[in-house]
Amino acid sequence: MSLLELDGVKVHFPVRKGVLFNRTVGHVYAVDGVSLKVEAGQTYGLVGESGCGKTTLGRGVLRLVDITDGEVVFDGTDLAKLPEEEMRRYRRRLQMVFQDPLGSLNPRQNIESILSEGMAAHGIGKDQDERREKIKEILAKVGLPTNALSRYPHEFSGGQRQRIGIARALVLEPDVIICDEPVSALDVSVQAQVINLLEELQESLGLTYLVIAHDLAVVRHISDVIGVMYLGSLVEEAPSDALYAGPKHPYTKALMSAVPVPDPEVEDRRERILLQGDLPSPANPPAGCRFHTRCPWAQDKCAVERPVLTDVGDGHKVACHFAAEIEAGELELTRPTG
Ligand code: SF4
Repeated sequence: MSLLELDGVKVHFPVRKGVLFNRTVGHVYAVDGVSLKVEAGQTYGLVGESGCGKTTLGRGVLRLVDITDGEVVFDGTDLAKLPEEEMRRYRRRLQMVFQDPLGSLNPRQNIESILSEGMAAHGIGKDQDERREKIKEILAKVGLPTNALSRYPHEFSGGQRQRIGIARALVLEPDVIICDEPVSALDVSVQAQVINLLEELQESLGLTYLVIAHDLAVVRHISDVIGVMYLGSLVEEAPSDALYAGPKHPYTKALMSAVPVPDPEVEDRRERILLQGDLPSPANPPAGCRFHTRCPWAQDKCAVERPVLTDVGDGHKVACHFAAEIEAGELELTRPTG
């Protein structure tokens, strides 16, 4: 069994109206039946445009939002069904690193206070002296000086603040860290440093990551497996190398064609696929394949029948009725791609 297994997870938010907002008039289908497995010690990269449901899914795993349906099995226990009291015990083992380090750190608390708060709540360290020693150890691991203890979040750079966010997760000795857009608020020059740090920590501490990002370039090197989400569902999942070598879903092909070639000396011969139109509203998702309103290869069947995520070999899964025909070049474009 995998360390973390999601099976048919749905997160539907009710849309309420009326004077007291007590009349449900519909739902936002933020996450709509996602199944995936994260193996111990590995990194699962979850990508997709903003609004595709990937952050909501991450929050659902931690029960920061209510799960409407499905299972979130962590180390053999379905967290989705645990009473809140019991869930609290698991929160230490599943931590989150947020996109905006400044917004997630209390500006009135110094770093010692920020980091020891969770430790005290989870009973880590017999007193503050013991907690302080542990915090010093972790600060060294994330590349921050010991004198950071008495300083405040605004005294640090963006990259250092993200290191503090990572340290806050690490002091609780988690098994899994959900990194939600861990570098998207940082300068490009600092992004690689934080990604490298996450990789080093994974190796030395045996951590398991679920890394959520809108940018395929960010998850490429850190991920063992990548899942691509579109409008609440996984449309493709594959080992990282296989996904980059040969994306099979039209949406992944479009995302991939927008990733710049890292070496400016190398001629970029890839076909650009520019998607027409905006992401449809998750409150009113299209019938059939949810991507059919933007897919350059959409056929009549796509508007009525929802494709299922299917293994097409070697753990490469795709949710498209015509993936094989598109790959073989047997399907005419039905929409312009540029
Ligand atoms: Fe495009 Fe149809 Fe495949 Fe959906 S099922 S991705 S609309 S070809």
